[in-house]
Parts: sequence; C-alpha cells; structure tokens
Amino acid sequence: MKSDLNQLLTADSMLNIAGYKFVERGEGYCAAGAVEDIVESRGAIKATVAGTHNYKVKIQVYHNELDYICNCPVGQRGLFCKHLVATGLAWLQEQQGSPPVKKTKYMALGAQWPFPVGGNFFMGKEYR
Ligand SMILES: [Zn+2]
Repeated sequence: MKSDLNQLLTADSMLNIAGYKFVERGEGYCAAGAVEDIVESRGAIKATVAGTHNYKVKIQVYHNELDYICNCPVGQRGLFCKHLVATGLAWLQEQQGSPPVKKTKYMALGAQWPFPVGGNFFMGKEYR
C-alpha cells in the first residue's frame, strides 16, 4: 500500500513547492551523495544533508499536506529549501529501488562544493 508520502512527495510537487532554483540546487546535492542517514519512520522522512554545514531535515504529511522543516536559514523561513529537495529526491530514488547515492569524487575535490548556482551535475553526470 502506498503511503500519503508517495502521493504527495513527487518530483512535480517539489518543483511546485520549491521552485526551479531550489530543485536544481537540490539535485546537485542529491547527486553528490550529500543526503546522509535518511530514514523513514511513521510516515516521516528524516535525514542529514551535508554541505557547508550539516543540516537536519524532516518531511512528513500533516492534514493531507506536506509538512517540512530544515534548520538552515532558508528552511527556517518555512521554504522548501535545497536540502529538502535533495532529501526528497534521495527518498524517491530509494522508492524506485535505486541504491543510495554515495559521495562522489566531486565532493572529494572540494573546489566544486557546494555546487555553483545552476549546478550542472545530476546523478553523477554532467549535463547541459
Ligand atoms: Zn535547508
């Protein structure tokens, strides 16, 4: 049986809520394996997202709507930030049976981290 999360947390819904800019940045984070310790329990997804700082994110369904929080400055303003996007994408990939993305050499290089706006990596491949 599909959970409410399966219905509400999709690539399309994230694009609607977060907007293209955050989705693009979140993709870069997810592709780089920045989403760590992702767990789903009692209908809530929790993860730590590594970047300049480590941020804690939580996504759950409340009254049939997505309820989310990240402790970064953007998330504290109630927005669906890039960390939330990265977590959502990592969760979607797990749902589709993909193994979790491990940290890539891009992260090890450091110079490209965090990815510049319009980050051009997705699923470990360069695009554009
Ligand atoms: Zn955040």
